[in-house]
Amino acid sequence: MALLLKNALCIDPAVSLNAVKDILIRDGEIVEIGDPGTVDLPKGISRDLEGKILIPGLVDMHVHLRDPGLEYKEDIESGGRAAAKGGFTAVLAMPNTKPTCDNASIARNMIEKALNTTRTRIYVSGAMTAGLKGESITEMGDMARVGVVAFTDDGRGVQNDAMMRLAMEYAKTFNKPVLSHCQVEDLSAKGSINEGATSTRLGLQGWPAAAEEIQIARDIALCELTGCSLHIQHISTAKGVELVAQAKANGLPVTCEVTPHHLFLSEEDIDETYNTSFKMNPPLRTRDDMLALQQYLVSGMIDCVATDHAPHAPHEKAMEFELAPFGTTGLETALPLLITEMVSTGKLTWELLVERMAHAPRYILGLPHVKLEVGCTADLTVIDKQAIYDVSAESFESKSQNSAFIGRRLKGCASDVYVAGYASLEDREVVGL
Ligand SMILES: [Zn+2]
Repeated sequence: MALLLKNALCIDPAVSLNAVKDILIRDGEIVEIGDPGTVDLPKGISRDLEGKILIPGLVDMHVHLRDPGLEYKEDIESGGRAAAKGGFTAVLAMPNTKPTCDNASIARNMIEKALNTTRTRIYVSGAMTAGLKGESITEMGDMARVGVVAFTDDGRGVQNDAMMRLAMEYAKTFNKPVLSHCQVEDLSAKGSINEGATSTRLGLQGWPAAAEEIQIARDIALCELTGCSLHIQHISTAKGVELVAQAKANGLPVTCEVTPHHLFLSEEDIDETYNTSFKMNPPLRTRDDMLALQQYLVSGMIDCVATDHAPHAPHEKAMEFELAPFGTTGLETALPLLITEMVSTGKLTWELLVERMAHAPRYILGLPHVKLEVGCTADLTVIDKQAIYDVSAESFESKSQNSAFIGRRLKGCASDVYVAGYASLEDREVVGL
């Protein structure tokens, strides 16, 4: 069955494309791209996307799908729906499931379940240390063989320097990147927000920037020592990015991601209501950090946007601030936020949005490239830049509603998503298997 997508403004900097085109898809691949009205559709479905923007499918390389073991928060099926609603064709699941994804059989189960339950491509990362405890290395080779694409102990920093070195040496052997959650636990201790004026004012224990930056610096040194590709997760301070930029300038294979919440919220958004949806790890930092992160995303010092989608049940977040778990959901708000706050305001071009949300994550993870050119897989995201999205608890496909952005009115969101030519989202409605 062929699919003809007509009249969309097609944007892809990888092939220097920014023009209204018709795109013909057959057997999951782009088979023809032509000026409007010039592409024949012998037999199949045609969709008129006039006024919309069509780009290579977005990838979120940092999500918590809670499956197996914590399915009351999210599962692979609901996470796949949330991804489609948010405009993503693929996500990378973190291994802090229950049990931990620290061996090949759990990884294989996740990969197989995903193939049977969702159209969204679910990539799986494996733990570097057993149970994320930082004590013994996992069988990375077994996990790599069943299709794990990266290794990480996300949720925790690896506290022991020699263990981190060993993990990076192993990962390099299998030619996989290490994704690093940077946190010196002796320093962050029981802190629940950034250490500074706000933590003092609200009487909450602080989680200092240094606890993140020290481990970024350590991991860069270990990258130099081992030669393993290193990706710093959810970077939250200007200084952290500057460390990464210096490493890049020195020719090291280091990249980093930023979350929408660190781009558009700061510690100043936490007030006397103690809204636990604003409790993140790493915490929301200063307003100066937030503004610097936006600039660094534009300049390319930050490689990509990733959401750290962290669903939690209402009873878990409805606790005292210091007891509530860390995290906000992010899959469904990321693209609308980036469009509203950065593209529509002229800070970020559509081309750079495609670089930071579609091309860079694939490059970092070593996934197949998706470009708007003949022969490429038809993983595509279609954007309606006029669509209004009022973020509310009821709006989510995710099982969880712990979003820090509830109440916002955003303009611009995904209207259609195609994975290998099959719709996972159509006219803003999720389409299942
Ligand atoms: Zn993390």
